[in-house]
Amino acid sequence: MNRELLDAHLAQLPLYLYDYLSPEELEFTGRVRWICENECPMYGKTWACPPGVGSVDSCKKTCLGYENCLLIATITEVDDISNVEETLETRPEHENVTNVVRDLMREQGVEPYVLSTEACQLCDRCAYLDGQPCRFPEKMHPCVESHGINIIPALESRGLDFQYGENVVTWVSLLFY
Ligand code: SF4
Repeated sequence: MNRELLDAHLAQLPLYLYDYLSPEELEFTGRVRWICENECPMYGKTWACPPGVGSVDSCKKTCLGYENCLLIATITEVDDISNVEETLETRPEHENVTNVVRDLMREQGVEPYVLSTEACQLCDRCAYLDGQPCRFPEKMHPCVESHGINIIPALESRGLDFQYGENVVTWVSLLFY
């Protein structure tokens, strides 16, 4: 992939941060999966979430099967970060940017494996609930946490605190290639 060309495009996007890392640098942990299982209402509801995405070990194996990873982050200020509705409203913008970056990589002939922020909402009713395969695997992005990834160390080592500011929402995507 022509990284210089990609960098030139990335510089035009509303990204707070982007950086390249080795997938080996990421922390995979069952603790994150435990939170999915015990605290997320989307657990078991879509192919983009556990257990549909597979075990943490198999997710890790998939991610480590790639040589490189591009991390992108956006931040958005909201009036009240404890207002879940308001916070979630900022997510589609990040997803749009993620799709733009994915398409930039595709234009270079690279098909990235994308993790983003979604418990996928592409279909009104996820095929997972009916035991059917995903309808749009080329569009669907499991969320970073679904793979047991604790993204905080990778962000902190790049000077970005996950809780960047009192009412600032941070969204992160990983594009493995
Ligand atoms: S694209 Fe549709 S079937 Fe696939 S994970 Fe998303 S909601 Fe489910």
